[in-house]
Amino acid sequence: AVPLVVAINTSTAAENGILVRDRIAMEEARNLDTVMFDKTGTLTKGEQGVVGVSVASGTPRGDADSEAQSATGRSHGAGPREEAADVRAWDEERAFAVAAGVEGDSEHMIARAIRTAAQERGVQRAPASNFENLRGLGVRATVDGDPVHLGGPNLVEKLDIERPPAITAFADEAGANARTVVYLVRDETDIVAAFALADVVREESYRAVEALHAMGIEVAMLTGDSEDVARAVAEELGIDQYFAEVLPDEKDTKVKRLQSEGKLVAMVGDGVNDAPALTRADVGIAIGSGTDVAIEAGDIVLVDNDPVDVVRLVRLSKASYRKMQ
Ligand code: ADP
Ligand code: MG
Repeated sequence: AVPLVVAINTSTAAENGILVRDRIAMEEARNLDTVMFDKTGTLTKGEQGVVGVSVASGTPRGDADSEAQSATGRSHGAGPREEAADVRAWDEERAFAVAAGVEGDSEHMIARAIRTAAQERGVQRAPASNFENLRGLGVRATVDGDPVHLGGPNLVEKLDIERPPAITAFADEAGANARTVVYLVRDETDIVAAFALADVVREESYRAVEALHAMGIEVAMLTGDSEDVARAVAEELGIDQYFAEVLPDEKDTKVKRLQSEGKLVAMVGDGVNDAPALTRADVGIAIGSGTDVAIEAGDIVLVDNDPVDVVRLVRLSKASYRKMQ
């Protein structure tokens, strides 16, 4: 038989949108030292949109500031263009067509954003084949007989390629504004374009961090996204510690690292790549709208996708299990 207090606890939890799959974890929650949040889709809405594009070219664009314009604002077909073949080959339209083609049917939020942006511009997806998903890095496919990659800084590092100066300037500016940047790479050597994507921090995330701090719990953040974006979001939310550009296989080792410092750690995440970290954590908390894999790996599921429910969960754990002692 289930002890009465525990039974009350789980039904109260359920009323609060907290689904307890593992009671031991729920009990442990009262002693948490650190809560580690995944960034994208957990602290942020994960509804990314493309807000900028920069096309690299050996030949300068038509006018001097067209590149700067693209770096900050939405893009626009206006402005004189050079006739050089290279420039024509990789204008924004082609960049969107190829990027949308390479994403194929990827379910990643970045893929959705790229396809939507291409569609909004009336750009047809370039036909692609040989799709490959490079977990934590990006995607790869063959377009017009050329291998094409699309992915973030981890991918650029893996391919060991240099970013053209204009792309670096675009990425720096985008990063300073907490935008995620992905790069379109041809032949594994040439970065032909970069896209900036904006995500929105959930309103509830501010309150969650504040309330956890008030309880004396440290807040950490984990992301596959760039250092720039991670720093900006961490500063914005007042997060104590963050880990950026973390590959999917490394997510659980970050949790392990905190545990080896003697901390009792909760991990909150939504993605397939968060599953090992959710399993590793003392308390694995899955976001309800997240992937099935994450939900399976979680001890507790936040049905309403609200990070503040982490706070409620800790309070409930403290209140319920105190009674049992
Ligand atoms: P997270 O959920 O923390 O953002 P992911 O492992 O899903 O981590 O992605 C890490 C990074 O890999 C992304 O920020 C992006 O740079 C790149 N990436 C992953 N999937 C894609 C994709 N389908 N298209 C483009 N870039 C991708
Ligand atoms: Mg995520």
